[in-house]
Amino acid sequence: MPKIKCSYCKKEMEYNDLKDIPTFPFCSKKCKLIDLGHWLNEDYKMEVPAKLETESFYDD
Ligand SMILES: [Zn+2]
Repeated sequence: MPKIKCSYCKKEMEYNDLKDIPTFPFCSKKCKLIDLGHWLNEDYKMEVPAKLETESFYDD
């Protein structure tokens, strides 16, 4: 059986077909959500300065 490692927790998973892992490339929904949340947080941090600029523009 081929093996892959979860993109988040690096746990090894065996599979016959990638269809066997609906959460690919993660071992579980939990890892998928944590990883997705991580990226969303990164995006959010990058958006904050732009939002503040927009708000001060409207204050004037
Ligand atoms: Zn995992």
